Amino acid sequence: MTFSGAAEQLVETSRDFYRRGWLLGTSGNLSVVLDRNPVTIAITASSVDKGLITGDQIVEVGADGRLLHGAGKPSAETLLHLAVVRTRGAGAVLHTHSLYSTTLSDLHSRDGRFFIEGYEMLKGLSGVTTHEHREWVPILENSQDLQALSGKAENLLLQNPELHGFLIHRHGLYTWGRDMAEARRHVEIFEFLFEATVMSHSLRRTHGVAENS
Ligand SMILES: [Zn+2]
Repeated sequence: MTFSGAAEQLVETSRDFYRRGWLLGTSGNLSVVLDRNPVTIAITASSVDKGLITGDQIVEVGADGRLLHGAGKPSAETLLHLAVVRTRGAGAVLHTHSLYSTTLSDLHSRDGRFFIEGYEMLKGLSGVTTHEHREWVPILENSQDLQALSGKAENLLLQNPELHGFLIHRHGLYTWGRDMAEARRHVEIFEFLFEATVMSHSLRRTHGVAENS
């Protein structure tokens, strides 16, 4: 993947996700792998409005998170992207700050995880072939110590190879794919499932219907 090709994908996806309410303000960050040996990635620069982002606001960083090319500052969460690339062999890593992922991470924070099952849309996750699939979604505690947080994410992914994504408490979603197309699909699927889960939960409470009935 060339830097200019990656930058084009990142700008297009950022603007699209901004319009859909998943990257409001300067929140979230998106990356594409440029090279694997050694690892280099193209990532959205820090503090950039995702609705107005342009190609010169994409930077290239190395495996240690240091800037290799570009004018901006790499996102503070670059280390999390690199942890996902290392453990999953991902070609693209997408991190959104949506309303529904944030809400669910709060609702289930005490358990540290929750599952989604029974939805046809689960089949949009790579390798899932039936709506009867149960997708576990872990929730990591938020931290401004990105070194520590990326270490926790790396352990989580090494110990749970079946995961397609994880949440950070009151913060957002991390998901990935072998390329940008698969990673984008995973964001769309997760965001749909999060919204459906929150809506069902809240409608059931409003109407006094027991869960799972
Ligand atoms: Zn974030």
